[in-house]
Amino acid sequence: HLAYVNGHYAPHQMASLSIEDRATQFSDGVYEVCLYLNGHGVDFTAHMDRLDRSLAALSIPAPMGRRALALVMDRLLIRNRLRTASLYLQISRGVAPRDHAFPKPAPAPSLIMTAKRFDCDALKRQQAKGIAVISTPDLRWKRCDIKSVSLLGNVLAKQAARQKGAGEGWMVDADGLITEGASSSAFIIDQAGCLRIRTLAADILPSITRRAVLDIAAQQKITIDHRAFSLDEAKSAKEAFIASTTAGVTPVISLDDQMIGHGQPGPITKAIISRHWDHMQAFFDQ
Ligand code: PLP
Repeated sequence: HLAYVNGHYAPHQMASLSIEDRATQFSDGVYEVCLYLNGHGVDFTAHMDRLDRSLAALSIPAPMGRRALALVMDRLLIRNRLRTASLYLQISRGVAPRDHAFPKPAPAPSLIMTAKRFDCDALKRQQAKGIAVISTPDLRWKRCDIKSVSLLGNVLAKQAARQKGAGEGWMVDADGLITEGASSSAFIIDQAGCLRIRTLAADILPSITRRAVLDIAAQQKITIDHRAFSLDEAKSAKEAFIASTTAGVTPVISLDDQMIGHGQPGPITKAIISRHWDHMQAFFDQ
């Protein structure tokens, strides 16, 4: 596999960043994960808009214009002979002698990308089965709306899940309310049949898949209740699911070993999954 590093393509083992890259010392960088189906980026504009917001929030200049960036992304896929793939893109503030404050003059930002094959069938199997979720404290900083590479809280949440044999960790804030998953957004269908979701604010990532789910729910005439839910409310929910670029919409069948609903993917979740594939297929068919 070839990676892209600051204008060059190199096999993964050879591709590297400077030890003085701000990403390695300060997590001073942002990233995106984009999904390509049959060579077409799913919700591509939304991902690029969010990338611009993340960069602006940290005053990191874009390494190139959006058109050029899209071309490099396409080129990386072509060079790897990939059409259905997830693409990881990271931009850091660049290389400078270690000092917390922004370096002056500003270095050129570093841009790296990797791509790997995406297995739609594996996702469909996971969606048919559903996943177990565990709860874990949200240890993260107060600007989780920036998609920064500062992910230690997410790493610990995912590891806590892994250790318990679960697929995702739902992080719980100081008020006992679920914020989001380690690498996905969190949803429940409550006893009234409403889709409950936390309002977007600085404490969660503005997930692109969340946006797609909300649009689908509106089309399906599902009532959306923009209120954060507690761990207990989640445990007594009719249905629950996670959403992310690479997990799509995936049902949650248990939370902290307690069954959600009948312990199987629920009907509303299944309907949303089906509509979400339609949404993605629209890009595939372009
Ligand atoms: N929340 C967090 C913390 C994430 O890391 C991710 C994605 O990896 C998401 C939510 C889902 O975001 P998206 O739908 O844009 O992939």
